[in-house]
Amino acid sequence: MEPGISPSLIEKIRSSVNPERLLKTAVALIEIPSPTLSAGAAADRLAGLLEQDEFQVDRPVAAWSDSPAVVTRLNSGRPGRTLQFDGHLDTVHLPFVPPRFEQGLLYGSGASDMKGGVAAVVEALRVLKETKALVGGTILLTAHDHHERPWGDGRQLRSLIDNGYKGDGVLLPEYLGDRLTLAGRGSATFEVTISRKESPVHEVLRADGLPDVLATGAKLVSLFQDWQQELGRNLDLYAGSDSVFIGQIKSGEIYNQSPQECCINGTRRWITPNIPLEVEREFRGKLNELSQLTRTHISTDFHVMAEAFSIDPNDPLVSALQSAHTASTGKPLPLGGKPFVDDGNVFSHQAKIPALTHGPKAMGAHTVNESVSLDELVRVAQVYALTAVAYCCQGQVKT
Ligand SMILES: [Zn+2]
Repeated sequence: MEPGISPSLIEKIRSSVNPERLLKTAVALIEIPSPTLSAGAAADRLAGLLEQDEFQVDRPVAAWSDSPAVVTRLNSGRPGRTLQFDGHLDTVHLPFVPPRFEQGLLYGSGASDMKGGVAAVVEALRVLKETKALVGGTILLTAHDHHERPWGDGRQLRSLIDNGYKGDGVLLPEYLGDRLTLAGRGSATFEVTISRKESPVHEVLRADGLPDVLATGAKLVSLFQDWQQELGRNLDLYAGSDSVFIGQIKSGEIYNQSPQECCINGTRRWITPNIPLEVEREFRGKLNELSQLTRTHISTDFHVMAEAFSIDPNDPLVSALQSAHTASTGKPLPLGGKPFVDDGNVFSHQAKIPALTHGPKAMGAHTVNESVSLDELVRVAQVYALTAVAYCCQGQVKT
């Protein structure tokens, strides 16, 4: 058993997590609509809830004055590590669904992504404060806006990290509860525009050798299919494999006119950390060759969405979360990869700290049917409290 997690501590945390209070907190956050870029009122609500429980709250503007971030700390007063919990308070731009609790399930905008998880963090903080179970180190909670794409661009979190709001490790309460994520892929979106300068023309009136943007688009699709075979062999045990994918192709006005432009959109994902520039260079290189071969002009918008990351399985945050999960549920989490991109990618790359995503097994993220069970919220609140004790106290050698 992890140092710091004793049977009596498990019992103390288990009996102190209060399901009614946790549910009320989640409802209080969900009932305030907070689409990305407009999460100010939800941030005010979270700050108010923390202040009610006598937590000292800071509101750094962090590059988004419409909704200053929410920051609080629980300091044991003794040396140890700092465990950060970081959550976003904004939700995707879908019609607002008010909170409702039915047969053990909480519904509403953000129930799963991720106000439910944030409420569980708040409950874990309250429990550790009341029980005084945190005997070393500090917990740092940061909550912010500007997360969900394409409306937000992540500037508020980047600014928080730039301004030193970071722990020794971070836990993100996103809706992934069935594995411990040790790696995630980097990802970029691309829009390739293949064009020629000559005007659109009836097919029978085409000049000899007129560049063919549609045929070039088809060549590109086939080229990327071959490339995918190659990329798919670049494997990581947890993250999966490299890939290139085309999801959209647009060209042509009418059936017998030779068009001027063909647009192709897709994604490129990779498993190796810290190589986005190489990935982009290789991508552009392939298109330059195709452009010369087909005498078309090819312009590319290549936008890196996230960096690839991997976490050392021996990191103390990994063992703290595993021990807490085992203590709370009787078994460890299987190791795995993170299927989506979240702020953990930003923490890994920008703050250079281990970032684990673990939250309630919730449903319906990015739909109008979000839901999470109260049992799951209670489970993660317990896991968070125990993880914090194991992680923060373990680091007492460090000051
Ligand atoms: Zn989320």
